Amino acid sequence: MSEHMERIRAEYEALRQNRTCRGCQKPLPKHQGPGQPRLTCVACEDEKRLQRMLIPARTCERCGASFTPQRNNGRRFCSERCQKLSEPSQQRAR
Ligand SMILES: [Zn+2]
Ligand SMILES: [Zn+2]
Repeated sequence: MSEHMERIRAEYEALRQNRTCRGCQKPLPKHQGPGQPRLTCVACEDEKRLQRMLIPARTCERCGASFTPQRNNGRRFCSERCQKLSEPSQQRAR
């Protein structure tokens, strides 16, 4: 009767126990203690932090807000909204 539920629970437990790093897909050590379990391993977390430090903050060409691009991908605007506003072809004529 509860075979379906058992399977869902088993999958859930497996997900909880065998978590993998979002960065390198390596299995993470079992989470211990209170607080949020980490999604990435320590090495990937350090790498992320380093990348964030290496990427200089930019100034949005549209609204002038300073922002940090997620990756060094040459983004010129702080948000999709600003990017769209700066594209004349995107503006709809009524
Ligand atoms: Zn990792
Ligand atoms: Zn902007």
